Amino acid sequence: MKLCLTIKNSMTSLKRGKMKIVTYFDINQKALEKWGNELQIGMVIEECLELATVLHKLRRTDKDPELLTENIIDEIADVTIMIHQARMMFGAEKVDKKIAFKMERLKTKLGIE
Ligand SMILES: [Mg+2]
Repeated sequence: MKLCLTIKNSMTSLKRGKMKIVTYFDINQKALEKWGNELQIGMVIEECLELATVLHKLRRTDKDPELLTENIIDEIADVTIMIHQARMMFGAEKVDKKIAFKMERLKTKLGIE
């Protein structure tokens, strides 16, 4: 599962004739090194607020549904990227454990065996 995610979330680029795999992890790591945790936490907040704002617009009927959907997808992508960086900052393994716990709890609530 993890390997598949890494492959799916990777990009290839040619450098001096050698193929180099650049993963989303690599890019996010570089972003954290370049801008630091404090600035990137600010970006997590900003992107979450942007997603919340665009989702709130679903209640309005005067918005073009296609454009709104495109905006929502764009903000989900931004939040996903920043959440990836937040996981790296605060500990991806701890987050994964918490997710597993919460999904197990949800499974029980839903009566899924
Ligand atoms: Mg955004």
